Amino acid sequence: MTTVTAELRSQLRDLLGQENLVEGGDTLETLSKDFYWYSPVLKRQLDDKRAELIARPADLSALRAVLAACHAAGVPVVPRGAGTGNYGQCVPLYGGVVVDLSRLDRILSLDDGVARVEAGARMGTIEAAARALGWELRCMPSTWVKCTIGGFFCGGSGGIGSITWGGINAPGNVKSVTILTCEAEPRLIRLEEAEALKALHTYGTTGFMVEIEMRLAPKVDYDQLIFSTPDWDRLLDWTDATARRGDWRKRLVTQFEWPTPSFFKPLKKYFRNGEHVSFLLLDRARTDEVVRLAEATGLACVFRQPLSDPPKPPFITDYTWNHTTLWAMNADPAYTYLQSGFGRNFREQFAELRRRFPGEILFHLEWTAGNAKMMRGNAVAQNPDSVVVGGIPLVYFKSEARLNEILRACDELGVFIANPHTFYLEEGGRHPNIADKRTFKSEVDPRGLLNPGKMKTYEHNPFAPAEVKA
Ligand SMILES: Cc1cc2nc3c(=O)[nH]c(=O)nc-3n(C[C@H](O)[C@H](O)[C@H](O)COP(=O)(O)OP(=O)(O)OC[C@H]3O[C@@H](n4cnc5c(N)ncnc54)[C@H](O)[C@@H]3O)c2cc1C
Repeated sequence: MTTVTAELRSQLRDLLGQENLVEGGDTLETLSKDFYWYSPVLKRQLDDKRAELIARPADLSALRAVLAACHAAGVPVVPRGAGTGNYGQCVPLYGGVVVDLSRLDRILSLDDGVARVEAGARMGTIEAAARALGWELRCMPSTWVKCTIGGFFCGGSGGIGSITWGGINAPGNVKSVTILTCEAEPRLIRLEEAEALKALHTYGTTGFMVEIEMRLAPKVDYDQLIFSTPDWDRLLDWTDATARRGDWRKRLVTQFEWPTPSFFKPLKKYFRNGEHVSFLLLDRARTDEVVRLAEATGLACVFRQPLSDPPKPPFITDYTWNHTTLWAMNADPAYTYLQSGFGRNFREQFAELRRRFPGEILFHLEWTAGNAKMMRGNAVAQNPDSVVVGGIPLVYFKSEARLNEILRACDELGVFIANPHTFYLEEGGRHPNIADKRTFKSEVDPRGLLNPGKMKTYEHNPFAPAEVKA
């Protein structure tokens, strides 16, 4: 399908200059894609999708002009940050224009524990600037070095730091977001506190996020720690208890089943053949106590290294959250993944999944704070009962039918799945406020041009083929 006319191309060229348009070649291909290929299902569905044109505005007024021109021409418009999403979120389904926001990257202010930034700012840059002033990001994905804050708010959910502060939806984490609408004369709309939730995690379907205010946490000096044992259950008990210790300030609590650690090539020398491992980012003031207790439980501390400040590699976070999947796929492309939330009966759920799918699932667990209400303000008051065991288990892919069997089994067993094998917003996570998101979309995108096809329950999609519309 061709949507971008010669007239629109020439208009955008006049607005941005030829050097800020990409009209073909490898760069067009790269900037049309994200990490959708993690999923064999999305790979089949999205491999042939690409933009017709990439536009790279440098500031708000240029972005406003690009949006007005695209609105007048009636073409699909897809915002893009760093393109590290893994659900095909920024892959355009119907061609059109992808708008690369990476040049809108200014840090506007960092005062009193609040960062005010443009949406294209990299999270790694914000983290470094915040740390220099005694603060740190409350939560960030494992792609934090490269990804943009706008991409995280519109495509991500949580990650490093979520054990203490929850994810982007947790009350208090987001102070405000400012959205640019896709209309004849694009307007700015500022949404504060809980009102901002209707614009979070909407895959670029509810306007262009241009400015963000988010609350920071007081900076902590962390140690990076890895514990190892051949005894999975012993490690699980210890990791779970550690995650629930509200008095130990942590940024990461992760557990991997062997042979997953063997996929982490740069760390291989620290691992023992056949042993499961836990990764911790822990307040340095607690390290001696935690190591002593772990060793008394029979675990070996095989890695202990301060996280440098300003942040410099090595980062153990490079192996956690969805980076684990990447290392596994590098070791064997047959691996894919699930994104799951387990119940209080997580031990039984693991056992049953192992019994039904022997050798097909490798457990990669991530602990997060579940009760967001505990985390208002800058005081951390973690409720041990609210901690949730989730994770991104690896799945040895056999066929789509088998993958669906695993998804059905999870459903039966009460394991929540944010399905990473679909590009539909509604199927990729929990959206209790989807009706608000839909209403907001109709206000900011009356022609249905923003990332069309991704919000499945939004009926107005002018690009859907007739038989799908019916
Ligand atoms: C190795 C790996 C590890 C990951 N780990 C995590 C993790 O720990 N936690 C997590 O939540 N995610 C994770 N992800 C997913 C992804 O990296 C993050 O969500 C990241 O924050 C996305 O940022 P980005 O700038 O790359 O966004 P993009 O991929 O460019 O965009 C994501 C979505 O947001 C939209 N968008 C981007 N910018 C804007 C804007 N300004 N306004 C409106 N819409 C916009 C896009 O259209 C798209 O739908 C991981 C992915 C990979 C590949």
